Amino acid sequence: MAAPVTTVGAASEGADGDGAPSRVAVLLPLPLGTAYDYAVPEGLRLGEGDFVQVPLGQRSVIGVVWGPGQGDVAAAKLKAIEHRFDAPPLPELSRRFIEWVAGYTLSHTGSVLRMAMSVPAALEPPAPVILYQAAEIQPAEARLTAARRRVLAVLADGPPRAAREVAMEAGCGQGVVKQMADQGLLETVEAVAEARPPVPDGNRPGPALEPDQDAAATALRRAVADGGFTVTLVDGVTGSGKTEVYFEAVAAALAAGRQVLVLLPEIALSAQWLDRFEARFGAPPVIWHSELTPAQRRRNWRAIAQGRARVVVGARSALFLPYPDLGLVVVDEEHESAFKQEDGVIYHARDMAVVRAHLGGIPAVLVSATPSIESVVNVEAGRYRRLHLPERVGSAAMPVVAAIDLRRETPPRGRFLAPPLLDAVRRTLAAGEQAMLFLNRRGYAPLTLCRACGHRFECPNCSAWLVDHRLRHRLVCHHCGFEGRRPAACPVCAAEDSLVACGPGVERIAEEIDLDLPEARWSIVASDTFGGPTAMAALAEAMASGETNLLIGTQVLAKGHHFPGLTLVGVVDADLGFNTGDFRAFERTFQLLHQVAGRAGRADRPGRVLLQTYEPDHPVLRALVADDRDGFVAEQIATRRRAGLPPFGRLAALIVAGPDRAQADETARALARAAPQGPDITVIGPAEAPLAMLRGWHRRRLLVKTSRNAPLQRLLRDWLARVRVPNAVRVAIDVDPQSFL
Ligand code: ADP
Ligand code: ZN
Repeated sequence: MAAPVTTVGAASEGADGDGAPSRVAVLLPLPLGTAYDYAVPEGLRLGEGDFVQVPLGQRSVIGVVWGPGQGDVAAAKLKAIEHRFDAPPLPELSRRFIEWVAGYTLSHTGSVLRMAMSVPAALEPPAPVILYQAAEIQPAEARLTAARRRVLAVLADGPPRAAREVAMEAGCGQGVVKQMADQGLLETVEAVAEARPPVPDGNRPGPALEPDQDAAATALRRAVADGGFTVTLVDGVTGSGKTEVYFEAVAAALAAGRQVLVLLPEIALSAQWLDRFEARFGAPPVIWHSELTPAQRRRNWRAIAQGRARVVVGARSALFLPYPDLGLVVVDEEHESAFKQEDGVIYHARDMAVVRAHLGGIPAVLVSATPSIESVVNVEAGRYRRLHLPERVGSAAMPVVAAIDLRRETPPRGRFLAPPLLDAVRRTLAAGEQAMLFLNRRGYAPLTLCRACGHRFECPNCSAWLVDHRLRHRLVCHHCGFEGRRPAACPVCAAEDSLVACGPGVERIAEEIDLDLPEARWSIVASDTFGGPTAMAALAEAMASGETNLLIGTQVLAKGHHFPGLTLVGVVDADLGFNTGDFRAFERTFQLLHQVAGRAGRADRPGRVLLQTYEPDHPVLRALVADDRDGFVAEQIATRRRAGLPPFGRLAALIVAGPDRAQADETARALARAAPQGPDITVIGPAEAPLAMLRGWHRRRLLVKTSRNAPLQRLLRDWLARVRVPNAVRVAIDVDPQSFL
């Protein structure tokens, strides 16, 4: 349905024959695949994309006029539209994008629409406010006190203002302002206070760019100026100034008067990014992520829909906002798996950003120091263009990376830091520099067991161990959030003092540092103990002042942050990600460790990275130590090509889940029996998912693999149509799966 915005409904008189009400199709933000017909009351003019309120059963819901009525319901049975919102219509491009995403991910169109209209309250204009201005004719009889004179001075030659503002500036109470209005000294006006986000200035000069940066920036500026769909991969080492480079593309889009969307994987933690943006453009961007307050969401959604928000920076959900005039999409850290949404509508925001750019005929810019294999292959195939930044800005050199072979350098019993690493940290701190210990595990220990009977503490709702969070005195499930106290005795054999913590988490590393390096001033940085932009800003400050000199953290530390004094990075367990049963495990581990390593030596002092490993000959470790990213990537590409794995073949996963084990099993088997067949189709499973139980639901998986050009969506649709799924069982479809849990 690609019709331009036209007037449909009441204006197209007589579409249903003489006297019959005309009708339109309205899509509701519910798990529904099609739009429903509604009658248009006389006198209501509607256009495609208009937001309307309609009855549905006993309820009243907000939907979007999706097109002309389909006529499948008798006119007499049609219910009437209740109300049309005075808000900009959902743009035609947004509607096409929603349909495209629904088709690709095999989701209900209504479920995708729901992501675009997640803030129904934003459809109503904000409540009017009362503003005050000086009356044109001042009543002669009113007495002018000093406070009243100050109020008049404040309002002398400005726009009307709110009582609170005037009172504050005039140094009096609000009562003074209101009384002046009662006595005719001030007049009131009602105004709808739409948020006017300050406009970032695309014409402010940026920093003087290094030659490589300059060449890349020029190419991006041209892509924006020329317009049209292009995808550019900005591939540059950490610290090469990629952000400044894509800021130039943002500047070009702003200068052209168009909207810009920048997607970041961890928006909530990107205080440094926001500061840099404001320093470059003189105003902050409009932010979109799940931690906004309802009032902020409402304001920002309206500003975006009305085109007043010029630059939006957000998490993946920002992709579905109703931009009337998007001119550029940037995806920073494009390789990040955080761009994949794993529940509800399962989609990859990087890939859908490229689709959005294609539909809109605008440039997309993907940015990374360790681009995904998919993007590299797209560059090699000539579909994407690549801009390369091989060197760090200024005098900073790339850090030197070395492995510590834990088979030879064994930490003492009960400890996890090998002597050479501990020694390196000690010396770094003694020299007044700073260090980071990286371990991608929250809490104290990933497993607690009973030494007497071997009992392991597992989540009652999930097939997962409970993680010991000692700072909170809790055993916690990282999948469902279940929490319990660590008991004094084993709940199975009743042995006392028999529970032991197995393996390290960041809290345990901190404990070890307290024992062996009491002079260190550490901070733990993990997503559960550390929240939001304020915490990150406080951390940056503590690092700048030297109050903290050792960071102990998980992957929240891996990206984006720039700590000039940080010269040593120690990776506690470099092998952690190898055995996840995921064909991207090596790629992921390489990206993560490379990113972590990139935190070291970003200013004038050289950086050093030490990787603790039991497998120093592993291809990932060898590539990191030899700084041979391209060799590693070439090897991964060859392996994928041979195995027909993405991006050389296509994958989709079916995850069958239900509260009843037998029913989940039976559905999974029925799906397997009905599986599509063909020379280039392989179906694997059903098998228990690695997370065989999650939140009390039993989970089974099937995986279908096809050639690159197979009509995967059609195959899946036909397949599902052949199987009857019981009401209590869910079948989730994950096209291009990133997670295999
Ligand atoms: P990347 O995103 O590639 O890791 P950044 O864009 O964060 O790199 O840049 C690294 C550091 O170098 C930042 O502190 C940034 O402000 C600084 N920087 C980038 N480009 C320049 C430049 N042309 N001149 C001076 N400093 C720069
Ligand atoms: Zn659980």
